Amino acid sequence: MMYLSLFLFVITVYSLISTNATYVVNRYDDIECNLKPELIKEIASYKNVTRTIMDEIISNGYGRTMYKQYSDFIDTFGARPSGSITLEKSIDHMINLTIENGLNDVTTEEVEVPHWVRGLESVVMLSPRQKNIAVIGLGTSVSTPPDGITAEIIVISSFKELENTDDKYIKGKIVLFDAHYVTYGDTVIYRSQGASKASKKGAVASLIRSITPFSIYSPHTGAQFYEANVTKIPTAAITLEDADLLRRLQDDGEKIIINIKMFSTYDQKKSRNTIVDLKGKEQPEKLVIVSGHIDSWDVGQGAMDDGGGMIISWFTPVILNLLQLKPRRTIRAILWTSEEPGLIGAAAYLNKHIHELSNINFIMESDEGTFSPRGLDVAGSKIARCIVGEVLKLFSPIDEMTNSGGPGSDITLFVNKGIPGASLLNKNERYFWFHHSEGDTMNVQNMADVVDCAAFWAAVSYVIADISVDIPR
Ligand SMILES: [Zn+2]
Repeated sequence: MMYLSLFLFVITVYSLISTNATYVVNRYDDIECNLKPELIKEIASYKNVTRTIMDEIISNGYGRTMYKQYSDFIDTFGARPSGSITLEKSIDHMINLTIENGLNDVTTEEVEVPHWVRGLESVVMLSPRQKNIAVIGLGTSVSTPPDGITAEIIVISSFKELENTDDKYIKGKIVLFDAHYVTYGDTVIYRSQGASKASKKGAVASLIRSITPFSIYSPHTGAQFYEANVTKIPTAAITLEDADLLRRLQDDGEKIIINIKMFSTYDQKKSRNTIVDLKGKEQPEKLVIVSGHIDSWDVGQGAMDDGGGMIISWFTPVILNLLQLKPRRTIRAILWTSEEPGLIGAAAYLNKHIHELSNINFIMESDEGTFSPRGLDVAGSKIARCIVGEVLKLFSPIDEMTNSGGPGSDITLFVNKGIPGASLLNKNERYFWFHHSEGDTMNVQNMADVVDCAAFWAAVSYVIADISVDIPR
């Protein structure tokens, strides 16, 4: 009986979304969709409610209030590194704020997280002349001995060049990876893997050119991972300006000697993922997840990464509840903990809920800025992308749809399991200027842009959670 009704339900849903039963699961950038006219009509009928949601947020003060709550949060807690007491206090604050805003369905799930604490760090060039070099250690870097490490620098452009350099030129030296920014994905490997690769060739420490296309002498931190069975060497980032200087000195045949001192501690602590539910009125077990991470690096204020994405995701169930708009399915906001050290909170959630993944209808994340919104980067089957593309038509001109294949950071773990999902597309060309640096403060944000993102995020989530069809796998 159960199987028969499930079968009939699947058939009904499928016949509603598609006029053509031969779709294959695939990814396209320009897709030809054959959605049924009834579904297109149904989606179009959401125009009024999406306009209401966006008007309430943009023009009737809800967005302004949210922005004040956001800037108060950022100024009260500042940086919220994984494992810190500040992060836990900021989580408590968001729980209280949820309840104060009239939504009581807020829970947390405990997660064991890394707690790496930066101590004193310095780099001084000793030869060919004395100069202080701005430095920031990379997450989980080991310390140097108390007097630091004094050694010659060798400037290397790429892993390929490192591989092709005889070990004897690397042994006992400090490798500087001077890889110029192409895209974040292409360049970040020097941060995440550089220390291990340099160590295998006999280096005693490693530095990277900061992963950013632009600098006013700003070093940028981030996660790095030691491979198993590799000697752990201290590793840090320097500015584009100093990387260029050291490159020029090497090209001129100078012998460059530096002293690097780095101190840190590393242990494990407990943290929490925070879950805020607006229960669905017809299918509460089915989830449309909207998310951002609440932790940040230990520099700057974590306003952009990811205070903005966290606040607009938190705001989605809160504002819909205030507007008394309950969708068919549950809208679940998740404030991931400990994203920065390597998606620790998201991995814990996936693990804990591994047997209920079929309940996740769609998963969204904003972790690439909350500048002026453009649309969604969508991962999923062709038909999933056709439905989301149809929904986006309600939001013109915020109707761009891209298909990078890997939207978001935390949600990649879910998308890789075949769950359709999307990240917020926004005009974030300057995102990596500030990312993981002291520059990530409220000054980067603009109220009108963040409010526009929040309005779009809430309204698009509402439609996906309420339409008569699930987003197919
Ligand atoms: Zn982030």
